[in-house]
Amino acid sequence: MELPEDVLTETESLGSAWASDLDGSDGDTSPCRDARALPQPKVPVHFMEVFSNPRIAPYVSGLGMRVGPSIDLGTGWNLALRSCQNHLLQLLAVLQPFVLMLSPPCTVFSQVQNSMKNRRKCQRTWKKHYEQGLLLWRFALCLFKEQCRQGRKAVLEHPWLASSWALSITEEVANTPGVFQTIFDQCLLGLVTTAEQKPVRKRTRFLSNLQTLEICFSTRCTPETCSHLPVEHAWLQGREGGASRCRSAQVYPADFCRGMARSVLNYTNNVAAPALPEAQVAPADDADSEADLPSPAS
Ligand SMILES: [Zn+2]
Repeated sequence: MELPEDVLTETESLGSAWASDLDGSDGDTSPCRDARALPQPKVPVHFMEVFSNPRIAPYVSGLGMRVGPSIDLGTGWNLALRSCQNHLLQLLAVLQPFVLMLSPPCTVFSQVQNSMKNRRKCQRTWKKHYEQGLLLWRFALCLFKEQCRQGRKAVLEHPWLASSWALSITEEVANTPGVFQTIFDQCLLGLVTTAEQKPVRKRTRFLSNLQTLEICFSTRCTPETCSHLPVEHAWLQGREGGASRCRSAQVYPADFCRGMARSVLNYTNNVAAPALPEAQVAPADDADSEADLPSPAS
């Protein structure tokens, strides 16, 4: 897959700046796992997650399916860098995940950030942060489109009201045949604040082409569906137990991960195994080839 030129150009300029902010490096020297150094399976993997530490993958693996490495800053991948993006594209071409989960950072697109838009002390710093977030969102959309193009499945997750959903680049992908959106509340999947254990609604949206998504990923919290009444939802603002409530809520609750793992299992149970990656398919010898051909008389 070739990345669009505008993504590459932005990646080169913004990625370097971001890497410097993160680790004091001069740019493209940030560590990135080399795809060639990773073990290559003999058959494609069922699941892989990007912009995420291992969260859902262990649950998918627990159901007996194969998973690829979880790709995130925390696992050595700075996807703001062009080199890391290219390594990931190479890795995906080898592993060919049946289902790809994409959870790009949402901070700059959040409602809180949007409400502060005109009250910031330094608009320049904000603009830089926004462009960094936009760069990662665009790359996530590129990965989503590539999964669709290859006839595979993808799930892209962001908060329900994130401004990223209204971007024209997002709408273009959302209008792809076979792609749909679902909205659900994470309180129904057990999301609670860390210290007080209060339910957090965190309404979330998926963009996906995976038809086997479990019903929990299209269920909102209403008096009919609520599992925590009479306890009300906690606001995702401020701190609790020394940690930001908003940051704590970025970790998917266990039922979210279980639901995604079952969704992947439902899909893989009903799909024929895709072809092996080209490089790993041993060429058949002439005798075998002829044996597979129908005879001229048939
Ligand atoms: Zn609720």
